Amino acid sequence: MSVLMTIDKITKTYGTNEVLKGISNEVQEGEVIAILGPSGSGKSTFLRALNMLEAPSTGSIHFDGYDLTTLSESKLDEVREDLCMVFQSFNLFPNITVLENLLLAPTKVKGVGRQEAKKLALSLLDKVGLSDKADVYPSSLSGGQKQRVAIARALTMQPKMLLFDEPTSALDPEMVGEVLQVMQSLAEDGMTMLVVTHEMGFAKEVASKIWFMDGGYIQEEGTPTAFFEQTKTDRAKNFLAKIL
Ligand code: ADP
Ligand code: MG
Repeated sequence: MSVLMTIDKITKTYGTNEVLKGISNEVQEGEVIAILGPSGSGKSTFLRALNMLEAPSTGSIHFDGYDLTTLSESKLDEVREDLCMVFQSFNLFPNITVLENLLLAPTKVKGVGRQEAKKLALSLLDKVGLSDKADVYPSSLSGGQKQRVAIARALTMQPKMLLFDEPTSALDPEMVGEVLQVMQSLAEDGMTMLVVTHEMGFAKEVASKIWFMDGGYIQEEGTPTAFFEQTKTDRAKNFLAKIL
């Protein structure tokens, strides 16, 4: 396996609030990392820092041969095609069909021809189980379907890494499974993923590694088995005691 991302001592301060206090780590190709931790521990800030939606205050992020913290906005936009973020709130364009949502980025950003983009989009809709929804508008979809479309849309860029910030938190409980299933199939295909989640089943069964965040640091990391069955730190033990 090769290293896809190297995170070196990143910090993030808002006013006097130091949210990230110096995080260093690596992501290997093909890893699925579940980022766990209490609310307010900086998980979203960390994820947003990794693709420079919120630039870190100090530190560096190497991805795909670049130090992201030194790039211009236009170069960053290019790199973000390989480092796509899937949000809790889907962010689909409501006024165009599902298929058009999937065609936008490849045709406008990557300059892929419409026919080729359409072929890819339809195959990705099939992959997320929604080939029959190409021509409907997002408003007619359930939350779980919208999130599956959002994942398919991220995949149209053929990214090297996907970042997910609580992708199932806005969903009714009965729709969580269908989204996690799509993410599991991506994991099985070898997609590198960083997933902030409260879904412990997913963390245990799909993730290859856990990063547990608290107090501005990754306090503990390890395989799911090590993390859940031989928890080392008191902070992680307290967290697990509250949620399990
Ligand atoms: P989590 O995702 O783990 O719940 P967040 O990263 O959202 O945590 O937030 C961590 C801390 O950073 C919180 O104290 C929050 O108030 C603060 N924070 C996050 N974003 C901002 C921002 N844009 N401006 C000021 N403070 C922020
Ligand atoms: Mg968050």
